[in-house]
Amino acid sequence: MEVVQSHRKSSSNNVIVSILPLYRSAPPLEVRLEDFEFFAIDRLRVLKGISDGLCRGKKPEEMEKLVLDLWKANMRHPQAVEEVNKDIISHFVLRLVYCRTEELRKWFLSMETTLFRHRFRRGSSEAQRALMSEFKLPYKAVSNAEFESLKDKLGQVARSMGQTLAAADAIFYKVPFEEVPDLVAGRRVFIHKGHAYVAINQVVSLVVTQFRSYLSKALILTNRKWTSTIREQEKDRLTPIVEALCTSYLGPDYSQQQEFGEISIKDIDQVAKTSFPLCMRHLFEKVKEDHHLKHGGRMQLGLFLKGVGLKLDDALAFWKAEFAPKVSAERFDKEYAYNIRHNYGREGKRTDYTPYSCQKIISVTPGIGDHHGCPYRHFSEENLRAALVRMGVSSRAVEDVMDKVHNRHYQLACTLTFEAVHGSSCDAGINHPNQYFIDSQRVLQSKNGSVA
Ligand code: SF4
Repeated sequence: MEVVQSHRKSSSNNVIVSILPLYRSAPPLEVRLEDFEFFAIDRLRVLKGISDGLCRGKKPEEMEKLVLDLWKANMRHPQAVEEVNKDIISHFVLRLVYCRTEELRKWFLSMETTLFRHRFRRGSSEAQRALMSEFKLPYKAVSNAEFESLKDKLGQVARSMGQTLAAADAIFYKVPFEEVPDLVAGRRVFIHKGHAYVAINQVVSLVVTQFRSYLSKALILTNRKWTSTIREQEKDRLTPIVEALCTSYLGPDYSQQQEFGEISIKDIDQVAKTSFPLCMRHLFEKVKEDHHLKHGGRMQLGLFLKGVGLKLDDALAFWKAEFAPKVSAERFDKEYAYNIRHNYGREGKRTDYTPYSCQKIISVTPGIGDHHGCPYRHFSEENLRAALVRMGVSSRAVEDVMDKVHNRHYQLACTLTFEAVHGSSCDAGINHPNQYFIDSQRVLQSKNGSVA
């Protein structure tokens, strides 16, 4: 796969592959630098959506629909061949992104395998057979004579799953049982003398096992190539994109709050109680209590407040009043006002800074005396439980939240908190503190007929 600066690849360059590619080798395509990044971001949206669905414990049929919707929303192209190219290119770009550490490889492998499983299931039986032969699966279909001798047993297994055994032309494959662990664990196959008898409609397990093992090896090899050559060769062009992609936030930047207009100083105490996520509630309470916040906290809360619609003059008045017991007006103007104006793009390079996403907040390492960061990640268990109770989360919901925290699903923990506090579901999950605020205001508005 060759990455070029910016010209369209000719259609004669396109490789026609089966609808579900096995990603055996990087495609002989020229890829524009923009496509390199945009295709990867679109695929990342699919994989992240799958990851959220799995973490939320969605049922298989819900996952089926979710994967289909995610694919349609992000990967579809009116021309089938373009869709196939995008599929392959995006997979290979993300391989580079996610080959670089054990943890990244594990996540990518798991999400790509889930995606592959769902796409394989949706394929026609011809397409499924074609993939089986492409994988060169060394399994033989059970002979008619053997099928007849085992028919009763096979029928029992089928009935236990609420299915009927198809007629004599039913195809079963005889497979060493350790190669289909999920079927064995789910008691969905008949096992005899170390072999599992896998029906054609269960064949997905075999193919997925092969796919997973192939991709796992490929990721290790890609990592070697990345470390030994690609990273250095591409240090000015692809490397920065690759390194940024796995932590990139994929949603809106919330630099300007438009939906609910401005928030004035007099409303701020009220909305902090009803609509701030825990990270911002904590900072807000700390500034009221200590009449000071260190730089990291001022940035995190200050940009969030800007995103919820606090105008510059109100922001200056807010911080000045809160700091007043400890910081004189003169010192405030000299030491703090500049930074606030700077965040609003009125000083220095005049950049209009955007509020921090969850990903960014979760990844910081607060020092002693700092109050910024994400409480789900950075609080002790005891402090977090107490903070959740103060927010009005029921004891049962607290356990669900803590379960997500123990598994390091901090944004899901925040999503469950949102749902518990608002009594309303948040299917998209929480990805940004300002999204939490907007979703909260929407729920409150629909409940009360006006914004709290
Ligand atoms: Fe804040 Fe995001 Fe953490 Fe929720 S998950 S507390 S919004 S950083």
